[in-house]
Amino acid sequence: MKNKMGAVRASAIAALVMAVSFVSGEPQAAERSFMSIGTGSVTGVYYPAGGSICYLVNKNRDRHDIRCTVESSDGSRQNVENILSGIIDFGIVQSDIQYHAVNGTSGFENVGPAENLRSVMSLHYEAFTVVARAGSNMKHIRDTQGSHMNIGNPGSGQRETMAVLMKAMGWGEDFFSEVYDLKASEQSNALCNGDIDAMVYTVGHPNASINEAFALCQSNLLDVTGPEIDRLIAENEYYSKVSIPGGMYRGQDDSTQTFGLSATVMTRASTSEEDVYEMAKAVFEDLETFRNLHPAFSDLDPARMVSEGLSAPMHPGAFRYYREAGLID
Ligand code: GLU
Repeated sequence: MKNKMGAVRASAIAALVMAVSFVSGEPQAAERSFMSIGTGSVTGVYYPAGGSICYLVNKNRDRHDIRCTVESSDGSRQNVENILSGIIDFGIVQSDIQYHAVNGTSGFENVGPAENLRSVMSLHYEAFTVVARAGSNMKHIRDTQGSHMNIGNPGSGQRETMAVLMKAMGWGEDFFSEVYDLKASEQSNALCNGDIDAMVYTVGHPNASINEAFALCQSNLLDVTGPEIDRLIAENEYYSKVSIPGGMYRGQDDSTQTFGLSATVMTRASTSEEDVYEMAKAVFEDLETFRNLHPAFSDLDPARMVSEGLSAPMHPGAFRYYREAGLID
C-alpha cells in the first residue's frame, strides 16, 4: 500500500514552536458569536491544528464576526465527550474514535451510538507511533513484552487505539510488566528518565512531543506490523498502512512501518450552520496558508479532507460550503 505520510525535512520542526501562538488579540466587546475547538496536548499536533483553524477563522472576522478559540485537552475521546455535553463546539478526533463514537462500539458501548455528532472535515494523517529507549533494543511492538509501557492517558485517542491493537494481538495488560497512563506531554521525559521503557502516541509527524524523546535521549520508533495489523487494516476502512519516513528525528534514519488514520474535525448537530460554514470556508479558501503552518499539514489535500474518515453525517454548514466550492456533488 502507499505511503501516506509525506516526507518532511527535520528542520521543519522549528515551525512547531510558532504554531502554538496563533490565537492572539483580545476579544472585542461587539462580537456576535464564539466558537471553541478542543484539541490535545500542547506538544501534539491537534493543538497547533486547532490554532491554525482559529487563526484562519479569526482572520475573516470582518466578514462573520465570529471569535474562535482553541483549548488543550486529554485528546480525542475527551473531545467527543465535551462536544456532546456542550463544553466545546468543535473537537479534533481520530477517525477510528469518530467511527466508534458514532456507532457505539469499541469503548463507546456503554454510551451507545452518539446521534448528535457531525463531521466537518478531515485533516492530517496520524501514525500509531511506538517509541522505546534505544538501550532497550526493541525494534517491533512485540518486543515490548514485559516492559514498563505507557498505554496513554484516559481520554486520549492513543489509549483507545492501543486497546484495539492489544485486542487484535490477543494481549492483556499482563503482557507488560507494568502499564502507565501518562499524558502525551509527560511521556518523553518519563521515557528518558527510565520511568517507562516504551510509549504510544497516535499523532502526525513530526511533532514536538516525539521530538523531545529523541532530543533528551536515544530513542527508537518501533514497527507495528504483522498479520494482526494487516487484518485490522483490511477490516476497518479508517485504518491504513503508514510509513514514518526516516530523518524526522535525531538519529532516526530509517523509515518505520505502522498503521494510521486521519485526524478529523467534529461538532454536534446543534452547532449553527453559519459557524460551520465559515470554518470550512476559512480553511479551504486559505489551504496554502494552513499547509505552511505546521510540517504535518504539508500534504493536506482538499478532496481527501471532505471525504476520508468521516463516519458521522456531515454538518449541513460544511456540506453547503463544499457544494458551493465544487468539492462534493
Ligand atoms: N491523536 C491524539 C488523541 O486523539 C492526539 C494527537 C495530537 O494531539 O496531535 O488523543
